[in-house]
Amino acid sequence: MAELDDLKIRVARACRVLGTLDLTKAATGHVSARVPGSERVLIRARGPAELGVRYTTDDQVIEVDLDGKLVRSQDAGLAVPIEVFIHTAVYRARPEVNSVIHVHPPSVVLFTICDKPLLPLYGAYDPAGLQLVLEGIPTYQRSILISSPELGGDLARAMGSHSTCLMRGHGITTAAASIEEAALHAIALNELAVMNYQANLLGNPRPISEEDQAIFRNFERRTAPPGASAGEPTGRAVALWRYYCELTGA
Ligand SMILES: [Zn+2]
Repeated sequence: MAELDDLKIRVARACRVLGTLDLTKAATGHVSARVPGSERVLIRARGPAELGVRYTTDDQVIEVDLDGKLVRSQDAGLAVPIEVFIHTAVYRARPEVNSVIHVHPPSVVLFTICDKPLLPLYGAYDPAGLQLVLEGIPTYQRSILISSPELGGDLARAMGSHSTCLMRGHGITTAAASIEEAALHAIALNELAVMNYQANLLGNPRPISEEDQAIFRNFERRTAPPGASAGEPTGRAVALWRYYCELTGA
């Protein structure tokens, strides 16, 4: 039970960090986490009683099964998100994933609207952001709500084994072994989009050299510290996440 409570706290905190960083539009979006060793998922609730991603509290995180059904009845006013199937489909397809995040960051959505690719414009500025581009950032081409298991399956197939996926005229989905790393993927992807956007405004954005891309391709692979278990952030992500929590007061 303590483990479940801790997971709820981490889901709610990730919501507040992403919301405070303006990575989503108003109340939309959700962070989820797989309950270790189970077919259950904790996810931010929607509904009339919710406060939106930015103000999510621990008690606004609900438990669902892999069919997206509520495990136990909740207080009035909280409901399963319509797009819960984004999460359940990715968990079904990818056993290594312990957290899925879906948000609507405007700067990233712009690139799906204008059919502009996100280019590898920087290296040492943010190796994590560069690695997302080098690993590949697919786009799910439909702009509808992912409101059924079938549509969830379509999105999960479009995403494949990638850390991030763009959704045309909609938002993004990220996935990782921990909540914090999935959130850091969303932050890095957003920063990449902002830099690409500004570079396009300034003119002539130029990718870094193939030689430098090759050096970063295998840069700083994360290794788990002794005692770390699946579902916990590792390596550089721990300190970086602490920074974003402090920055946002989350
Ligand atoms: Zn959405």
